[in-house]
Amino acid sequence: MSTPFWAPPPEKYPGPLPEKADVLVIGGGIAGTSLLWHLARRRIDAVLVERHHIAWGASGRNAGFLLAGVASSYAEAVRTYGRQKARDVWELTNENHDRMIEAVRGHSFGYRRLGSAILPDSDEERTLLIESEQLLQDDGFSALWDGTRLVNPRDGEVDPVALVAAFARQAKPGGIRESMEVTGLVPNLHGVTVTAGEVACEAGVVILATNGYTSQLVPRVKIEPTRAQMLATVPETKAITDLPVYSHFGYHYWRQLSTGEVLVGGWRDTSLDTEQTTDEEPTAQIQEHLEQAARDLGVNNEVTHRWAGTMGFTESGLPLAGPVDGMPNVYICAGFTGHGMGFAFMTAKQVAEQI
Ligand SMILES: Cc1cc2nc3c(=O)[nH]c(=O)nc-3n(C[C@H](O)[C@H](O)[C@H](O)COP(=O)(O)OP(=O)(O)OC[C@H]3O[C@@H](n4cnc5c(N)ncnc54)[C@H](O)[C@@H]3O)c2cc1C
Repeated sequence: MSTPFWAPPPEKYPGPLPEKADVLVIGGGIAGTSLLWHLARRRIDAVLVERHHIAWGASGRNAGFLLAGVASSYAEAVRTYGRQKARDVWELTNENHDRMIEAVRGHSFGYRRLGSAILPDSDEERTLLIESEQLLQDDGFSALWDGTRLVNPRDGEVDPVALVAAFARQAKPGGIRESMEVTGLVPNLHGVTVTAGEVACEAGVVILATNGYTSQLVPRVKIEPTRAQMLATVPETKAITDLPVYSHFGYHYWRQLSTGEVLVGGWRDTSLDTEQTTDEEPTAQIQEHLEQAARDLGVNNEVTHRWAGTMGFTESGLPLAGPVDGMPNVYICAGFTGHGMGFAFMTAKQVAEQI
């Protein structure tokens, strides 16, 4: 069974589908709740609908790393996107970190900003990380190769459910409606007719914040559902790692909470085919790799939680932020390719500015 480590938010947001809405946001993860925040600041009236509960999706199942950049190293990103675009992406994610934390100041969400480490798993990765240190420093970013790993001192970590819950708490009364699954979208001259089973809502604009689930509702949007798995152990008294660690080109990651629990995730590369799914059940095969990884880190404690979540991958590796082709009045804010905590707040700002 999939049992995420992070407890669901205590608040409940019941309510029917509204008959009318200026803006209807679909999806109650970090993207949807960030959208509500930005739209409210622009005095745009919006309602968010979520088919389960706030942070039910990947936002409530992730590792909680707040990292700069994308999964690849800076050196690879420079090769893929060019120097200027790679720099822009790193700047955007740094800004995302600062502004997102500022937006939920005063709420408690397990935030620590100790930095993060990228640990090479091969000579090839080591060479790329050493090159990345130089490129990052030349471009004005703080990064330090300490002889074994690349440390980014600006990075941080959170309890992702508590973070999303902090955004949800700032919504206007009635601004969030849980247990409301959207089943159809029909754009028309004045807006979009949104259906949830038998009921309908006339929305001026719809924003899809449905990330890895987007193709279930709008198949034309090219976002690949991609499963990621994790486990958590009972608290370990000895220090396993001083920083959240990312390794093997982003396929391996682990962190230790201030309360001692060790969280290990990834190893999707050992079974890429089976992980292209929206099925949130962890598999024995990947869980065995995660358990072995925990043992290799020196953790033999009992595993308390095993879970999986659905990420949304785009072809470019960067989020989609803007109108959906061929669907007037429908926008998208999704496709975070495994890095939504690092991107979604600023991507939501970009989309809110287009409404
Ligand atoms: C195991 C794992 C580890 C990860 N680790 C990290 C990390 O450390 N750092 C990081 O930055 N990112 C990480 N990610 C990625 C990150 O979790 C996602 O990029 C981010 O949470 C996406 O947020 P979202 O709001 O776009 O989507 P989601 O959180 O998935 O929210 C989408 C919501 O839409 C709802 N929905 C879908 N269809 C409908 C419908 N028809 N009607 C109503 N509601 C609907 C779903 O129920 C869901 O709650 C990880 C992901 C996983 C799975």
